[in-house]
Amino acid sequence: METAQAIIQMNHIVKKYGRQEVLKGVTLSVNKGDIYGLIGKNGAGKTTIFKILLGLSHASGGSLSITGSQTTKELRENRRKIGFFVGNSFYPYLTPQENLRYYAMVKKIPRKQIKDEINRVLEIVSLSGVKKPVKSFSLGMKQRLGIANAILGNPEILILDEPTNGLDPQGIADVRAMIHRFNEEFGMTVIVSSHILGELEHTADRFGIVNEGIVVREITQDDLKNKEQAIEIAVDDLERAKELLEAGGVKVLREIEEKSTLEDFYFRLIGGEEA
Ligand code: ADP
Repeated sequence: METAQAIIQMNHIVKKYGRQEVLKGVTLSVNKGDIYGLIGKNGAGKTTIFKILLGLSHASGGSLSITGSQTTKELRENRRKIGFFVGNSFYPYLTPQENLRYYAMVKKIPRKQIKDEINRVLEIVSLSGVKKPVKSFSLGMKQRLGIANAILGNPEILILDEPTNGLDPQGIADVRAMIHRFNEEFGMTVIVSSHILGELEHTADRFGIVNEGIVVREITQDDLKNKEQAIEIAVDDLERAKELLEAGGVKVLREIEEKSTLEDFYFRLIGGEEA
């Protein structure tokens, strides 16, 4: 089973905000060396999954293991192996170097190594020598600085929450190339989310499809290659759905009953076409 080599294992994770259950029993496994793509429309629960992984939010139920942790103490220690990008909030009046110096101290990177480490990560994201305050940065530059911050200290596991959000095609391609480099050259296990399947189609090796607080399916790159031939959907109005699908050039082969949504299908289709 995959569990043996899983670097992250989430089992039946539930998260409630008041009465609202935003995660309804998420089970997923990420293996060492994976580039794992977490796909789902906005509001599906991707960020909540990340927050729970990072310990920024507490699960209401279920279990989580990171690099084989068995206890809460080990879980807390092993979380230090994770670098993350969950938004790009920096001190606007500070330069990239000053911002990263702050985060390097938070991460307890030894003082003597901080300068070299900051230079290393800024070089990787092509921001070397940029001395202006972050408030004058373009969105693309902010995203890159966010990624530099995430890889500060060369973490074993890297979490990137929608790192391509709002980027132009060149920016998206740059992020994709960086992810491959982190994985291949630095040996990082990468978990990256997007609401557009097509953006991750050529980046990730495995995917978790999140919908309404559940990982409805985990698939591999190989499964994805056959996706047009094997999509299962469940709808309220079957006749109307068939009409719409057939009008869009999709052949309906057989009717089944399973919990998934037409919207899911829609996003897969749109994402696939954009790639
Ligand atoms: P995604 O990252 O896939 O867009 P999120 O994990 O951000 O989705 O959100 C999942 C659901 O949880 C959404 O319905 C969102 O409104 C809700 N949610 C997220 N954070 C909170 C919070 N702090 N309080 C209440 N509801 C929240």
